[in-house]
Amino acid sequence: TIGRIFDLTVKKFPHKEAVYDVRKNRRMTYSQWDREVNRLANALIQEGVRKGDLVSTFLFNTEELATAFFACARIGAVFNPINFRLMAEEVAYILADASPKVVLFEQALEPVVSAIQTRFSQTAFWFIDDGAPEYAASYHDKVKEAADSPVDVEVKESDLYAIMYTSGTTGRPKGVMHLHRDMAEQSLIVISSTRLHSNDIGLVTAPMFHCAELHCALLPRVHVGAKNVILHQFNPGKVLELIQAEHISKFFAAPTMWNMLLQENLQDYDLTSLKLGLYGAAPMAPALVRACKEQLGISLVQAYGMTEMGPAITFLSEEDQLTKAGSAGQACLNHEIRIVKAREDAPSEPDEILPPGENGEIIVKGPCMMTGYYNREEATEKALYKGWYHSGDIGYLDKDGYLWVKDRVDDMIISGGENIYPREVEDVLYEHEGVFDVAVIGQPDDTWGEAVTAFVVLKSPSVTEEELEAHCKNSDRLANYKRPRHYIFVKELPRNASGKIQKFILRKRMGELS
Ligand code: AMP
Ligand code: MG
Repeated sequence: TIGRIFDLTVKKFPHKEAVYDVRKNRRMTYSQWDREVNRLANALIQEGVRKGDLVSTFLFNTEELATAFFACARIGAVFNPINFRLMAEEVAYILADASPKVVLFEQALEPVVSAIQTRFSQTAFWFIDDGAPEYAASYHDKVKEAADSPVDVEVKESDLYAIMYTSGTTGRPKGVMHLHRDMAEQSLIVISSTRLHSNDIGLVTAPMFHCAELHCALLPRVHVGAKNVILHQFNPGKVLELIQAEHISKFFAAPTMWNMLLQENLQDYDLTSLKLGLYGAAPMAPALVRACKEQLGISLVQAYGMTEMGPAITFLSEEDQLTKAGSAGQACLNHEIRIVKAREDAPSEPDEILPPGENGEIIVKGPCMMTGYYNREEATEKALYKGWYHSGDIGYLDKDGYLWVKDRVDDMIISGGENIYPREVEDVLYEHEGVFDVAVIGQPDDTWGEAVTAFVVLKSPSVTEEELEAHCKNSDRLANYKRPRHYIFVKELPRNASGKIQKFILRKRMGELS
């Protein structure tokens, strides 16, 4: 169980620094953190939280989020971290679906909570900063008064550990259910794939409510007894300062964050402590991975996966960066990946497995697979059809067993009857030195069905459409029909908190333009 993982680390490294919360300038050793976790666990029990009850967090990156993660694990409460980017009605939807006993929230998110809290009279709201609003209790008062002795609750590896709501670009968010043992397995996989050691010093900079940071960075670090530096919100300059000041050795960041780091004056910082970076949650152009190697002096390990799978299902190792650049790597230990013909909706038919080299839907089986979506039997049955998770991503396996992720099924463009994977086009455009960010989508077109359209954020405004066109042509990797018919220059691309470009917003915007 996650509680047991924490206990064992505390026993092994009681006096080692465990967390440093940068915003509050607060440092704790593992034994101090252990007492803090116990206090919160006891405070939650006093509030009436029992095994199986939900506790939600609505927080940026804070020590309290990590403390709640382990306190819930110890008392068998189900942990429910909520995306801090969500608007009031989206949060209300999740609270109504999940019915948590307690919600922890912070100052910056108070307007969202105050707009909806009256609808949830059965839920206690705890405020973690100073000066709680009248409808909420003070987290710190509750925790200060609670005992720091261990709680006596038996938690089994087969108990529910968390419900995590996935964004879902279509329809309502779905609550992904995971058991304790799913995360213990995931943590071991990440430890071996990123060669984590208790001497490592990690930086939390991607959102902690998302499983990429929580399960592929924070939990594995606690598992081995490494230190966690927690940055409240991503800020490239601050990240570089902290790498230098705290001697950060390994950390996870979304592709867009790595891209922003490269725009800073890197020569102003001592980054020699860095050993390895991890990226995932969204595609990263090979040109950007190379730039990180050249400018930051570190190799990046890629994780590919999804909340439903814990999340990582493949890793691309440091060693494979050169020979398999652009691939998502090999299946994680104990995982099996297949490529099948994407089905419309024919649940009675078996999946048709495709041979190496052929594109199809990526399906996967592994020990960290969700048990299902909370309250959503039909969606669960569809997603876990015949025991395989159906990802909705397109890709192929090469003859060496490496996975090449092409795109989301929903993002594929069909132009003049040809399938076009936007990522192929994006990867080429990223190689142009004047391009900072890019997203390719299909625009409805009378002649072609869909016309390839590129939204581009430039580094310098002098780059022209003709130049980008020539660049695509000269790349020798984009057939005529794949090259963008339209370029739209924008200041910024819409992204969600985990760094994925929200293409549905771009499609909507284009509908309004035409
Ligand atoms: P989420 O459930 O929020 O973690 O989103 C999962 C989705 O993110 C996957 O189905 C992929 O479409 C995308 N994704 C995650 N990691 C990668 C990666 N390394 N490369 C490309 N896409 C990724
Ligand atoms: Mg998903």
